[in-house]
Amino acid sequence: MQNSDFIVLVDLDGCIRDLHDAIFRVHNAYYNAGEPLLKSDHPSWDISEVFGIDTETFYQRYFVDYVEELNDITFPFKDYKCLEVLGEYAFVHIVTSQWRTAQPATMNWLSKFNVYYDSVTFTARKDLIRGNIILEDRPETLEALHALGQLKVFIRDHEYNRGLSFYNRVRNLSEFCEHCRDMYEKKSYKAFARVI
Ligand SMILES: [Mg+2]
Repeated sequence: MQNSDFIVLVDLDGCIRDLHDAIFRVHNAYYNAGEPLLKSDHPSWDISEVFGIDTETFYQRYFVDYVEELNDITFPFKDYKCLEVLGEYAFVHIVTSQWRTAQPATMNWLSKFNVYYDSVTFTARKDLIRGNIILEDRPETLEALHALGQLKVFIRDHEYNRGLSFYNRVRNLSEFCEHCRDMYEKKSYKAFARVI
């Protein structure tokens, strides 16, 4: 809801869509001549490490060279439609640290799958975005948000973030949306000036 005073921040990759899975598939189809790399064998969120290339090369390879293939792959988590219900009472702000060259493809992807949102911001500094509650999966970002202490932080469970113990943990986006509803109905949040 555009004019809600309840602001929900949601990370994109690892929370709304399974980009890791898509990248492994593209990698195996176009770059890997040997045994396919399995996502289950490489739980790290930092897939540039898994593939042994630096971050810039990684994004060039997967978002510039193969953007069409990535767009053709269906990789939302099954429950992403719950954002539409969330949007009936909350301002849904997607915050993603997607690399600059990936931004047009990301906007196209959101449009293609009709993902509900009120706003999208591309930034790695999620601690600078105002909001009441956030869903995130990346360990370093979670630690920064936790240190800041201004947002209610929920961790989207993945193997690579199970070393963190000081967050509310959810198994999927639907569970997170339930917590949002609870917070909203109990009015246990600091209302922001309405976003127009
Ligand atoms: Mg993420």
